[in-house]
Amino acid sequence: MPRKKQFKSESKRLLDLMINSIYTHKEIFLRELVSNASDAIDKYYFEHAGHVNPDELEIRLDPDKENRLLTISDNGIGMDKDELEENLGTIAKSGSLAFKEEMDKKEGEKNSDVDIIGQFGVGFYSAFMVAKSVTVVSKKDGADTAYKWVSQGDDGYYITETEKETRGTTIILALKDDTDEEDYSQYLETYTIENLIKKYSDYIRYPIHMQVETSKPKPGTEDQEKPEYETVVEDKTLNSMVPLWKREKSKIKPEEYNQFYKDHFYDYEDPMRVIHFSVEGNVSFTSLLYIPSHVPQGFYNQDYKKGLQLYSRGVFIMDHAEELLPDYLRFVKGLVDSQDLSLNISREMLQHDNQLKLIAKRIEKKVLSELTTMLTKERDAYEKFWKAFGLNIKFGVYNNWGMDKDKLENLLMFYTSKEQKLTTLNEYVDRCKEDQKEIYYVSGSDLEMMNKLPIVQTLKKKDFEVIYLLDDVDEFVMQTLQQFREKTFKNASQGNLDLDTEEEKKELEQTTSDNKDLLDFMKDALKDEVAEVKISNRLSDDPVCLTAGEGVSFEMEKVFANMPEGNGPMGGMKAERILELNPNHPIFQTLKTLFTSDKEKVKEVAEVLYDQALLIEGFPIEDPIAYSRKICELLVNTNK
Ligand code: ADP
Repeated sequence: MPRKKQFKSESKRLLDLMINSIYTHKEIFLRELVSNASDAIDKYYFEHAGHVNPDELEIRLDPDKENRLLTISDNGIGMDKDELEENLGTIAKSGSLAFKEEMDKKEGEKNSDVDIIGQFGVGFYSAFMVAKSVTVVSKKDGADTAYKWVSQGDDGYYITETEKETRGTTIILALKDDTDEEDYSQYLETYTIENLIKKYSDYIRYPIHMQVETSKPKPGTEDQEKPEYETVVEDKTLNSMVPLWKREKSKIKPEEYNQFYKDHFYDYEDPMRVIHFSVEGNVSFTSLLYIPSHVPQGFYNQDYKKGLQLYSRGVFIMDHAEELLPDYLRFVKGLVDSQDLSLNISREMLQHDNQLKLIAKRIEKKVLSELTTMLTKERDAYEKFWKAFGLNIKFGVYNNWGMDKDKLENLLMFYTSKEQKLTTLNEYVDRCKEDQKEIYYVSGSDLEMMNKLPIVQTLKKKDFEVIYLLDDVDEFVMQTLQQFREKTFKNASQGNLDLDTEEEKKELEQTTSDNKDLLDFMKDALKDEVAEVKISNRLSDDPVCLTAGEGVSFEMEKVFANMPEGNGPMGGMKAERILELNPNHPIFQTLKTLFTSDKEKVKEVAEVLYDQALLIEGFPIEDPIAYSRKICELLVNTNK
């Protein structure tokens, strides 16, 4: 007897869960094993493309009531010894791993384990939900030796050499004994098995064969009025073999779409959206697309693979064909099946394939129109989408020098000063005053803070709506768009806003020239910190604010500062700082008075005001200790 090996530790937990599962849908084990068998045949077919007789490929089910065994066999690629070890001794594989991570995250939530099993494909291990012992006999395609893998689940497994004539894998389940709660014997009934295959595995592309007893007229008696019947055993194909996406749309249930998604794209949650469509014409194809309900695992990692599965006439060609999706739709999952594609197409060829380019164009159009429909007809759903994937759409606007901006601008959403809800640019413009020429925005790291910005207060008083930008990419988006419905985007904390009437302008000019000496003096006092000190009507209640000159804005300066050092010419780019004073604020009067009596004090107040303006904008101040000392001094002086 060979030495027993232990399962890798990460496998152990899932295994325990399977063995002791109280889950009511234990029946999914069959779906899992059949889908593994189908994958294995896919792999075989693929390796021998063109040299396989498709009629020979099959999956067989074989219930044996007497010995309480259910056997599932395939003539797919098979596994050698190492593969048995690697694939069945550990869970470090695709779907199962994602499943486990998700499960660990949810640990502690009552019964969450159980729910997830039902929703998500858990693969080979699910066999242990119904079997007390599992034997896998496999012979790898082209190999001479076959191997047997045996496990009772809880105490590890062993592998030995064995005899097997044909290529492929045979899985033998020794079913558990029935209990009061669980009827395991049902999985030996051909009737139950047939139903399970119809329910879960109908679309499997290879025939699933099983011997069934049927009652048939005895030969020679068919034409009699009362034919004599006999029971015959014959091979029956249990599945219709039509892939889900080839079926009539109206006949597909939402659950079927969702289950297919979860099985094929390794998610535990139903998708947010299913898009199923066919195109006939220059290029013909069927596509089944999904928008996930949440950001996919590893989405922001470098090695996240975008792209769709590619099929030709129902036969799988490749996964993650990235040419089929623009980058900004990289969260979309799904597949494309086209008879116009060659089975032998390689990844390199994809890039130059004109058919594929046409398909990609149609897919992009379809997804965008679906999103537009969502936005207009199902606002809540769209906002949910936006919260999950909006950032990606924004990158789409900005990437490739704005090549796609026209397609995407109507999909953008922002928070604004009007309400606590997301707003589209169209809605903003619809609400605009007729003569408003610019679309105002400010940037910041939280809404509350932006709401309090002096310039926002002023704009709100004048009844202008201001867009609040929260993401780093936002200002770049605005710069890429430049205009929307003939209104120019304008950073409200930057440059001139031109909000004043002629009269106000005149008044401002007058105040400026009256106080020219004071302003020059303050500019000198602040040295190179600021490019200018000026009086403005930008402020209503606050004494000062800092604005940026045209060009680089404060938010961009912060983004640049966060880039890895020496990262291109943008590395240390800074915004030009302009200190603006509110001529109607009492502090301005104080400054004027001090300017005639105590110039040294004016210098100090100027420094304090500048530091305050920096703080409001979310910049660090250079010398916090000096700042607080000056404030204290000023406070003490209020008593004098
Ligand atoms: P998943 O199918 O999600 O990868 P499973 O636990 O179901 O996870 O299977 C693990 C691996 O074992 C598969 O990826 C495959 O390589 C291998 N395997 C399972 N069943 C078969 C089979 N019938 N024939 C060949 N290989 C198989």
